[in-house]
Amino acid sequence: NTVIDAHNISRVYNPETIPVYAINNVHLHLEKGEFTALVGPSGSGKTTLLNLIGGLDKPDSGHIIIGGTDITSLRANELINFRLHNIGFVFQSFNLIPVLTARENVEFIMLLQKVKRKERDKRVIQLFKQIGLEDKMNNRPVQLSGGQQQRVAVARALASKPQFVLADEPTANLDSAAAFNLLDIMAKLNKEENTTFIFSTHDQRVIERAKRVITLVDGKITADTAAVPLTNHK
Ligand code: ADP
Ligand code: ADP
Repeated sequence: NTVIDAHNISRVYNPETIPVYAINNVHLHLEKGEFTALVGPSGSGKTTLLNLIGGLDKPDSGHIIIGGTDITSLRANELINFRLHNIGFVFQSFNLIPVLTARENVEFIMLLQKVKRKERDKRVIQLFKQIGLEDKMNNRPVQLSGGQQQRVAVARALASKPQFVLADEPTANLDSAAAFNLLDIMAKLNKEENTTFIFSTHDQRVIERAKRVITLVDGKITADTAAVPLTNHK
């Protein structure tokens, strides 16, 4: 069950002056239920690759097929609609809407999708249970810790029932305890709901939690391995 199939994708910045091959002829295949870490030195192309498979940026060559749809051939407005229904995003800096409560942040996308009230309520409560924040649903982001905000961001990413969740350095702004907690929740969602995650990270302890690790160097995939955990987490 293929979720992402990217063929020969390249992304070149500054083609007219000093070209930077941020992504250089990459192939990437991701199946449903994967829990994959994208690693590599700073500047290796992780953000660029995630932006491409998330449909936030377009490759200069190659094709990206998500759940059977070639997103590289979609028009801008079609792409926005496709992202809304198919891809969940988690960002480094949480990016919750400050004037909305945690619940409203999660519910927002379901309103855009015109999900009926009863179904919305059911799904919101289920998501807040999964992230362990049922008692904080009505708090605004400033009333939550960074770790809690990022857990809400995960719930928001899942609210649209996307094909996969993409997270660019989700633990970069969290202390170790909050980072572990976030990974526990993501791993639990992956195990129990078969949610597909791909996340970039620099954090060795986060890498250890992945089932598959893809390494980028200078815009190319240099390693792609099933992860062997160094320590045993529950
Ligand atoms: P990473 O996320 O692994 O740090 P990036 O995808 O951000 O890597 O960057 C890959 C390469 O592309 C780097 O050499 C970076 O300097 C370059 N780059 C990224 N964004 C731009 C841009 N908007 N314009 C020009 N060069 C860019
Ligand atoms: P967590 O359970 O995610 O580790 P903490 O132990 O950091 O949360 O926070 C304990 C409580 O203090 C939380 O319920 C949260 O509401 C509040 N809190 C923590 N950090 C902040 C913050 N930066 N701003 C506002 N409230 C915070």
